[in-house]
Amino acid sequence: MIPDLERLIRLQQLDTAADEARRKIADHPERTQQLDAALQSARDLLADVKGRLTAAQERRRVDEKEVAAVQARLAKYKDQLLEVKTNREYSALLHEIETAQNDIRAREDRILEIMMESDELTAAIKTGEAEFKATEKSVAAERAVLDAERVSLQAEADKISADRDALVAQIDRRVLGTFETIAKGRKGVAVAQALGGLCTICHVRLRPQVFNEIRKNSAIIQCDSCQRILYFVDTPEAPTPPPA
Ligand SMILES: [Zn+2]
Repeated sequence: MIPDLERLIRLQQLDTAADEARRKIADHPERTQQLDAALQSARDLLADVKGRLTAAQERRRVDEKEVAAVQARLAKYKDQLLEVKTNREYSALLHEIETAQNDIRAREDRILEIMMESDELTAAIKTGEAEFKATEKSVAAERAVLDAERVSLQAEADKISADRDALVAQIDRRVLGTFETIAKGRKGVAVAQALGGLCTICHVRLRPQVFNEIRKNSAIIQCDSCQRILYFVDTPEAPTPPPA
């Protein structure tokens, strides 16, 4: 194989690896955002349950205060009962007493319900806090993985860049120009393997005399269809391409 063709194959490997590293690095902000969102949603969930407990406790305080007030009123009614002069006053007072007693009962029932609800919410907060801690821990671990990955990807990208500079310096200017032009127009892939008479990237069937030339790996030959620079690898175990 002529050295420039060999160098172009290597150059393509480096460019593809650099693209892959860049793509992974570019994915990181979104992955970080997903971690932030997971943590925030666990935090919101916990805050919601805590808010419901606070509201329940507030309702309970209001009812307890009201029960005390009605009880005081009730005691007064009972004292007044001893002093009434007429049957009419007496029955009106009895009615007030009954109303007050009903009110107290209703509020006490509600306080009981609130206490049960509060027990459930307190248990939910305990579970929620444990879940939040677990989420926090796993998010921190995933963030550490991302950080380490970013450092290693950056190191890899730097190494690729240095290797590329060294390699490019050895390639014929005109050949390199052809490579760069094709790479720009073909999403960064300027080199393709020819296999079984086909270009393995655009899958076009090559003219037999062209394919025979490519097999020699002794010149820079481009695919008629996709313009990529073709090379041949003699691999007896290579899969047979489907008939065109
Ligand atoms: Zn092609």
